[in-house]
Amino acid sequence: MTIPLTAPFESFIYPFFDLNFHARHDEVVQAFLKTPSLSPGLKGMYIHVPFCETLCHFCPFYKIVGTDDRIENYVQALETELRMRAQEPRILEWTFDTIYIGGGTPSLLTVEQVSRLLSIIREYFSLATVCEISMELEAKSISEEQLLGFKEAGVTRVSFGVQTFHPKIRKSLNLTPTLEQIDSAIALCARVFPNANNIDMIVGLPGQTNEDMYADIDAAIHSGIDSLSIYPMDYIMTTPHLIESFRQGKTPLPPTAPNMMQMFYRARNYLKQYWSEDNTYCYSRLGISPCRYMFDIVYGSYANEYIAIGASAYGLLQGLVYQNIPDEAEYVKRLRNGLSTVHLSSPYHAYEKGLVFFPKIGRYDLNDLRRWDYLDLYQNRIDRLRNDGLVTITENIMTLTPEGELRYGPLMLEFFSDNQKRLYNRIWRRMSTQLGWDVETSRPTEGTASQESLGGLSAMAIGPKPRLDRASTSV
Ligand code: SF4
Repeated sequence: MTIPLTAPFESFIYPFFDLNFHARHDEVVQAFLKTPSLSPGLKGMYIHVPFCETLCHFCPFYKIVGTDDRIENYVQALETELRMRAQEPRILEWTFDTIYIGGGTPSLLTVEQVSRLLSIIREYFSLATVCEISMELEAKSISEEQLLGFKEAGVTRVSFGVQTFHPKIRKSLNLTPTLEQIDSAIALCARVFPNANNIDMIVGLPGQTNEDMYADIDAAIHSGIDSLSIYPMDYIMTTPHLIESFRQGKTPLPPTAPNMMQMFYRARNYLKQYWSEDNTYCYSRLGISPCRYMFDIVYGSYANEYIAIGASAYGLLQGLVYQNIPDEAEYVKRLRNGLSTVHLSSPYHAYEKGLVFFPKIGRYDLNDLRRWDYLDLYQNRIDRLRNDGLVTITENIMTLTPEGELRYGPLMLEFFSDNQKRLYNRIWRRMSTQLGWDVETSRPTEGTASQESLGGLSAMAIGPKPRLDRASTSV
């Protein structure tokens, strides 16, 4: 077998940022937005709302504890950025297939604030007749009235993170909603958004046994939720806080990387007995389609593009990845002063993107590679994986074998271009060194994880600069 059973970090976008690319990033993004898309494809928008009531110990995303005033100022800044982006020549040609309001905790916004944002989107952007508008919630901060209001405003799908139902593990990760609040939130979501509600769960949490994992899945499928997204824990895209608590023995150590992959594989096979599987992570009672923004666009073909709205949000255009400034106060200030929100950019035509994410989706139409004249470039690698029994191909559709499903993580690395592999290896080494984490053994290394260690590095993967100053005072 040529592919080792290791766990790469899960939460990456492709292509990666090349921090050696020095430029006026705002001008680079502007140049792309002034020109039309090269090829037709799906179009999406990601809106980031960074506010949370409390901060979970493992969470790598850009989040802060806010006040009502700060949230209102931020919403006004989002409105300004939306109006600004709507005028760009490239965007004027788009019809949006999906909008994703993520965070953070977007349900900390009032119904009136969400209505304002969605009204602007409807007024200034062209939306597909069936445009999915997904919104992330948080169990302890929603009510039926609020959910009905979000629906009335145009939200079509809701999702929230449970991660685990295990009380002890919840406590160790500072997952603050009670099990009663989770039950009640699931019942509300199922009632107000039938067949369009989802919870996220994580496998391989610190101290989680196989029995705990099976119990979590049982609890999820009997909870009344209609669909479930399940992910292996990512110990590279996490917080220095969690690594430090491993080092100090305050939190039980997680499984090793190979054990984690085995555990996730068992979880998937267990789930498949009860619910239908749409892709590596998504399962549902009635074959409900998973989030289009994530699985059709972020993990989809090179042709599919999305724009970034909000602090720390990522955008991906054909040939360019970019990120907004990962600082809420600076984001608001820049928009008030009519300045660009762009923080980073890297030009790179990732024609292989759909292939890279194929192991996350489980099936891939090779005509996507043909479309970019890239099949010849990858034919030898694909043949080798087929000979190794990891993939099969029928009428141009490549699927994973059970052995390929077990190794889906490292399989993605097989499809990185040489250029992107170099960037990935650099990020991987620097993040594990600065975080103080040995990826192979899943153990802390000597020394202390710097509280600032993810600052300049996480921007290259998915989580932007964490505001650890505020996080550490609130957890
Ligand atoms: S996981 Fe916790 S900290 Fe992270 S965005 Fe969700 S609620 Fe906020």
